[in-house]
Amino acid sequence: MSTSTQPAGRYAPSPSGDLHIGNLRTAVIAWLRAAGRLALRIDDIDAQRTSPHFTSRQRADLEELGLRFVGPVARQQETYEHYESALQDLQRRGLVYECFCSRRDIQDAVRAPHAIPGRYPGTCRDLSVEEAGRKREELAAGGSRGGRVPALRLRSDVSSWEVTELFAAEADPLTRVYAGDVDDMVLRRGGNILPGCAPGEPGDDGAGGHARDYAYNLAVVVDDALAHVREVVRGDDLLSSAPRQAYLAHLLGLPEVQYVHVPLVVGPEGRRLAKRDGAVTLAQLRAVDPGASARVLEWILGSLGGAAAGSAGAAERLAATSAAPAPADTAAASSSAAAGGAAANAAAAEAAASAESLADRNHRVLLEALESFDLGKLPRDSVPFDPDHFISP
Ligand SMILES: [Zn+2]
Repeated sequence: MSTSTQPAGRYAPSPSGDLHIGNLRTAVIAWLRAAGRLALRIDDIDAQRTSPHFTSRQRADLEELGLRFVGPVARQQETYEHYESALQDLQRRGLVYECFCSRRDIQDAVRAPHAIPGRYPGTCRDLSVEEAGRKREELAAGGSRGGRVPALRLRSDVSSWEVTELFAAEADPLTRVYAGDVDDMVLRRGGNILPGCAPGEPGDDGAGGHARDYAYNLAVVVDDALAHVREVVRGDDLLSSAPRQAYLAHLLGLPEVQYVHVPLVVGPEGRRLAKRDGAVTLAQLRAVDPGASARVLEWILGSLGGAAAGSAGAAERLAATSAAPAPADTAAASSSAAAGGAAANAAAAEAAASAESLADRNHRVLLEALESFDLGKLPRDSVPFDPDHFISP
């Protein structure tokens, strides 16, 4: 693979719904940080909550926003064999144990005095062979049809781990080191044994007849190594999981990645942006204004403060170069949003008039932003987004 097509970063949404403007903002930052050499990965490890329907919708939205990706698009559901071999590597080294706890068991244990919130208390770590065998039989006899298997946990040797974090305020400002908790994280969830797929029998897929329910922490570590990703840009809600993932990568002998955790977009009530906040996805905003992606991109670049200083005027300059009148239907459709974001609307109309797709027009704006992108000038606070104000400024 040549240097120009090798990804410098990745954007890895979970296709469990449409991306909202906060997700899109993180994607834009990741793309700018990777100087346009960003790979797209579909984090569909949770097969119950994700669907190919949302994979294509998310991809279409990212592309309309002007983002283009390098390399093949990886899917976690097509990467199971690599997760399984990583798991077996840890198992061979005695670093994996079975956990028979129910969610309730763990909740009760962490409520105990001196328990550290959110940490697995190690209940099953030192079960005797006999005890584990008895519990395994109980589980196998219960559940539906083929019974159930236990979860698998990492036998962790450390209680915290350090990562290089280039942006988040929680990292040491001088060393850029962030230290966080590591516990005996789940590597593969427990669950029902698949019918006709018992361990060692025909149909056994090598995962012991068990649904391939690998944990997200294991999957992303393997995925990033497979894609040779050395820097991960993502929302700061994932900051606390970085030390767990980095420790796992260390145990697996995989290269260290550095992190850039960026603040999230918050809704009118100051909480992390969500569907309840109104029109927050491109599809919702497009229903009001067909050219919404141009305004969304303008809003996103504006929200980057000095980090994309050169881009603030980019949309306006693009609009100013337009001599073509907007077609009537586009102008009418945009009228409710025409008061503010006029530059982006005019640009969208220009794109329509000149038969340039919105995706191409937005891509040009992104390329301009790329020239001056400076992570150090990115605002460190979360960014408020008010859908009502965006629609009718
Ligand atoms: Zn347990």
